[in-house]
Amino acid sequence: MYEKITPPSTGTKITFTNGEPIVPDNPIIPFIRGDGTGVDIWPATQKVIDAAVQSAYHGQRQISWFKVYAGDEACEQYGTYQYLPQDTLTAIKEYGITIKGPLTTPVGGGIRSLNVALRQINDLYACVRPCRYYPGTPSPHKYPEKLDVLIYRENTEDIYLGIEWRCGSEIGERLINLLNNELIPATPEHGNKRIPLDAGIGIKPISKNGSQRLVRRAIKHALRLPTQKQIVTLVHKGNIMKYTEGAFRDWGYELATSEFRLECVTERESWILSNKEHDPDISFEENARQIEPGYNALTPQKQAEICREVEGVLNNIWTTHGNGQWKDKVMVNDRIADSVFQQLQTRPDEYSVLATMNLNGDYLSDAAAAIVGGLGMAPGANIGDECAIFEATHGTAPKHAGLDRINPGSVILSGVMMLEFMGWQEAADLIKQGTGAAIAKGEVTYDLARLIEPPVEPLKCSEFAQAIIKHFN
Ligand code: NAP
Repeated sequence: MYEKITPPSTGTKITFTNGEPIVPDNPIIPFIRGDGTGVDIWPATQKVIDAAVQSAYHGQRQISWFKVYAGDEACEQYGTYQYLPQDTLTAIKEYGITIKGPLTTPVGGGIRSLNVALRQINDLYACVRPCRYYPGTPSPHKYPEKLDVLIYRENTEDIYLGIEWRCGSEIGERLINLLNNELIPATPEHGNKRIPLDAGIGIKPISKNGSQRLVRRAIKHALRLPTQKQIVTLVHKGNIMKYTEGAFRDWGYELATSEFRLECVTERESWILSNKEHDPDISFEENARQIEPGYNALTPQKQAEICREVEGVLNNIWTTHGNGQWKDKVMVNDRIADSVFQQLQTRPDEYSVLATMNLNGDYLSDAAAAIVGGLGMAPGANIGDECAIFEATHGTAPKHAGLDRINPGSVILSGVMMLEFMGWQEAADLIKQGTGAAIAKGEVTYDLARLIEPPVEPLKCSEFAQAIIKHFN
């Protein structure tokens, strides 16, 4: 099956059911070491993950690592321009969960970006970037600890799809003429608008399925968070781009109310119906009142207090959301993108999970990472329904390669995301605890050491990994 790699002789495959991983106690996990500083970062990361799993499960669970190749290292093994060999693609599909270091974007050789190629080939439609503050990390903000958000960014659509035509190209001109002469005049709402003939043209497709599968994942993640963090904000610029960004918001709400509200109703109704005091001869509302003394449907007095616009909505959801029940549920709201940028700085604690289209999410995830201390510590994951890849968000930083000095935090925290995705929360918590304690004590690599006041002596990359492990307890 494989040309140049051999899977470990022990371990079992992770499989996916309904988009969720089924993880055995001894999973086989492929890893891509990465180019440039990958030679420093990956060994440090593997040590930390293995130590956390050992400390948390005392041998009951362990990972069988499977080395696969991509980037420059793949070319050394497989030949010129073999940046992404078939062996690697097969292993990623077969074993479900992969973790990787940074990869050089090849110059020449026909691949635009290995990272983008991996996402597209495996339909990894959700790019997930958590941004949370570890006390002690130098930050340009006064209260960085108030920001604790997860950004769910759609990965496969929007202008990132890269369907565009250069200004002056033959097809670009044909398209502009078609729009100016036929399509725009046939759409009265566009009035006399015209596209300048010297314009480049890009296409921004936002689909219902693409939007809803992303929002579904964001809501499912919110359901696993503590109650006060169960807020999903749909980020969009729907006031200007109604049929793309606005549609993303509408489809997001449609999904939330159809798939997730139904679950609430069913759960609550089934509780009432399964209660032995339930009387089959009277209505659901009457039953609810008798079984739960606190239960109260919308009274005429309450109806008078609320404006007519929301009355219907409240009536519809009162059984499942009234009497403060909403506080235990996921709150789905929406915000205009530019306002989110502002409020992440001024009122960061009002946000938890942000569901975004591709371009908005691109900007927002780097902006949020900057608030909590920069990209050196920002992890990421790309998740689909049948596989997931966890990765550093920074590049290969070639000038630091092989010097054992770079910060391995980004890939180590990607490992935390991977463990959480696998349901190995105890091991993930140990790494978060160890990382937080190391940073708080000023045991950090050069990039953070140079920014801390007063300055501290930097640790090597491998020493930072040791410091994290030392602070597990
Ligand atoms: P980069 O590799 O991210 O490095 C830029 C600078 O960021 C470094 O010089 C360093 O700054 C800082 N930095 C990067 N990683 C760090 C870490 N782990 N700890 C602390 N500081 C870190 O960006 P680049 O030089 O533009 O790109 C180099 C290659 O990486 C390119 O081929 C690019 O395409 C590729 N790339 C890959 C990915 C990916 O695999 N996900 C992402 C982005 C770029 P100082 O020197 O000032 O300390």
